[in-house]
Amino acid sequence: MNYLGRTLLIGEEPGGRYAQQLKRWLVERTQVVLAKRGKGRNCQTPYFKIESNGCWIWQRRTNASGYGSIGMGQGNNRKEPYQHRYFYEQFVEPIPKGMTLDHTCVNSLCGNPEHLELVSHSDNLKRAWKRNPNGIGRQKKVVV
Ligand SMILES: [Zn+2]
Repeated sequence: MNYLGRTLLIGEEPGGRYAQQLKRWLVERTQVVLAKRGKGRNCQTPYFKIESNGCWIWQRRTNASGYGSIGMGQGNNRKEPYQHRYFYEQFVEPIPKGMTLDHTCVNSLCGNPEHLELVSHSDNLKRAWKRNPNGIGRQKKVVV
């Protein structure tokens, strides 16, 4: 499943290279490109909208926490992983157990691997606290 392997390195050509790889990946795997195609029933929603600041903004399903999820498989094999985790694993490396991804751009819908940093769960909560001390529900969950 690690289709693109580890051939991509974080820090190389910010945005550009990943965007090219993503586009190729999406075209090969799903025939969906980064622009809307077709009309009516045949219209396919693109996965991401690339912003000028380099963020890849998820255009599809989101959950109650404000994260994007990507549906795959059917029946008992149905999975809906978070899109940022899924694409990070596709483009960069498998996420070790107990680790989470922090959006350094503070945009929870972003899927650009260059805007994601591997951190422990407690570090991620501490960062969230620092950024937004008054965030509802966040301050109680901080584990020091
Ligand atoms: Zn971003």
